Amino acid sequence: MAEQQKSSKTYLWCDTCRRSYRHEEIENGACPVCGHPTREVGKFSAILRGLMANELATSPIVTKHRQLVKLIWTQNGMGEQYYRVIAPDMTYNKFEARVTEILCRGAEEGWVKFNIPPAPRDDESAYKLDLIDEDRFVTELQALAGPDTAEQDKN
Ligand SMILES: [Zn+2]
Repeated sequence: MAEQQKSSKTYLWCDTCRRSYRHEEIENGACPVCGHPTREVGKFSAILRGLMANELATSPIVTKHRQLVKLIWTQNGMGEQYYRVIAPDMTYNKFEARVTEILCRGAEEGWVKFNIPPAPRDDESAYKLDLIDEDRFVTELQALAGPDTAEQDKN
């Protein structure tokens, strides 16, 4: 009961995204957008920080773009499958955010391509990820999983 009262009076703040979240929006303390750890702040403090961060805040379009990237690579349970195979030493949420980051960088650098139909479609298969350089992606995933995994693979 006391825990619930406390939760309704505080928010979780992400320094990277410069925004606050309600406790129920957060799992394991990680920001659902970027995966970085959040910290607990009071309600008033969250409002003030939000107002001050307004100018610096990630634009909603950019946030949605990142969410779209995440939805594309995790569709049909692919996110969970990668997580099971790679078995990284981190929560699924964090893994999802980190892989999304890797893929965004890959798209920027040209070794990954996201295909999006010209207008929204009901057919989800129209939204897909092309790995232009699969080896590069595997290398990035190994680095994410930790040096031990990369080592085992070499031997
Ligand atoms: Zn964040």
